[in-house]
Amino acid sequence: MALPPMKRVLLKLSGEVLMGSQQFGIDPAFVAELAQEVKAAKETGLQICLVIGGGNIFRGMAGAAQGMDRAQADYMGMLATVMNALAMQNALEQIGVSTRVQSAVQMDQVCEPVIRRRAERHLEKGRVVIFAAGVGAPYFTTDSGAALRAAEMKCDALLKGTSVDGVYDSDPKKNGGAKRFDTVTYDKVLADNLKVMDASAVALCRDNGIPIVVFSIREKGNLARVLSGTGVQTIVQGS
Ligand code: UDP
Repeated sequence: MALPPMKRVLLKLSGEVLMGSQQFGIDPAFVAELAQEVKAAKETGLQICLVIGGGNIFRGMAGAAQGMDRAQADYMGMLATVMNALAMQNALEQIGVSTRVQSAVQMDQVCEPVIRRRAERHLEKGRVVIFAAGVGAPYFTTDSGAALRAAEMKCDALLKGTSVDGVYDSDPKKNGGAKRFDTVTYDKVLADNLKVMDASAVALCRDNGIPIVVFSIREKGNLARVLSGTGVQTIVQGS
């Protein structure tokens, strides 16, 4: 199944991808490899928005499970996403890709606030815009942030680069016979609670007709393969 022609995409990377082979935190060498993939995608003429999670550093749910106040823990998670955004900005700029970070939690000394029209200008000027801090509110995830920014920036697709190569009918890490879908509908994902993104993110993409492309970003060159239609992926779409 090929993707429609794309001019602008939103690439969502889970925070855990930035760990590389580490168990925690940021592996600068692996972030540099990811930056090369983003650069190569940009050189095909695409406009690129980036959203990076924070799970390699802190997740609000994990804090809450250990007795923390959930909202407080979620704000810590949002701050983790800003650290990841700055790491990716650094890696991209070191290889000559112009970027701006816009955070949904304002921090003037570090980055811009989210201003849609300004983000639009950055993209037109060939900059990669990295959106940090998700939607800027607790009880959400960066998947919802990615869906929200993909909708408001009118992206042609939301590319979810993660550590699995698509959407399966059951957990491939637990079930050797799990089957990967080439395409699957938003409604099936929601009805069967398939592990793609959280439900609010999937619903937002469904309501705005944004295809979600799930693929593994861990293998070198995969982003380019997915964009050229030769990759291993699952496309979540309307029908
Ligand atoms: N978070 C939040 N609101 C948002 C986005 C993120 O509260 O809009 C917090 C939440 O605690 C979450 C953490 O930031 O667990 C890190 O984001 P996420 O879990 O989405 O990261 P990923 O799993 O993609 O690495």
